[in-house]
Amino acid sequence: MSRNQKILVIASGNPTKVNEIRAMLAPVALNVQQQPKGLEIEETGSTYLENARLKASQVALLSGNWALADDSGLEVDALGGAPGIFSARYAPSDKERINRLLQELKQTVYRSAGFHSAVALSDPTGTIRLEAEGLCRGEILTEPRGDGFGYDPVFWIREANSTYAQLPAHQKMKLGSRGKAIRAIATEMGFLMGF
Ligand code: IMP
Repeated sequence: MSRNQKILVIASGNPTKVNEIRAMLAPVALNVQQQPKGLEIEETGSTYLENARLKASQVALLSGNWALADDSGLEVDALGGAPGIFSARYAPSDKERINRLLQELKQTVYRSAGFHSAVALSDPTGTIRLEAEGLCRGEILTEPRGDGFGYDPVFWIREANSTYAQLPAHQKMKLGSRGKAIRAIATEMGFLMGF
């Protein structure tokens, strides 16, 4: 890593999410860092984009660096789009969130769902300079397959013939909602940040 590399702070306390974004941005000359430990930003927005903007600009202001935030959620058609932006608050842990989802869906055959992600890039003054959204359609399995964070083990992607949890990183970047959103802003990010 060269000393002149621009710093980009990922506005997330989830190390798995940060590593995923770091891997996505590996081809570009950026020093990707995780937000300071212990920092909790309340997600008070009513949309993914509002939450992503909030996290990006607060972390940029606190750190004095460019910051990138992602806010994602799982929208299950048979549950009227739930848990949606409440995906993180659906139950206390990943395991309990998955259990609750499987219990609510029971044996229904109508299991279509979508992962929805919004990303926002803030400059060091806290001003949002870029934003984008990404979608990935899939289905909810009746039991988990593979190890992954969040709802990864039960989110099945037909075209990949695997769950989000079983996808290699480059495929999650290509097919996953966060990967799509980040790819949509990557080129312009390079122009803006000068990398
Ligand atoms: P947030 O975007 O960090 O607020 O995450 C919202 C919820 O969705 C949390 O329960 C995450 O664990 C989950 N989540 C976010 N991204 C993913 C993903 O890529 N796969 C599976 N679950 C995810």
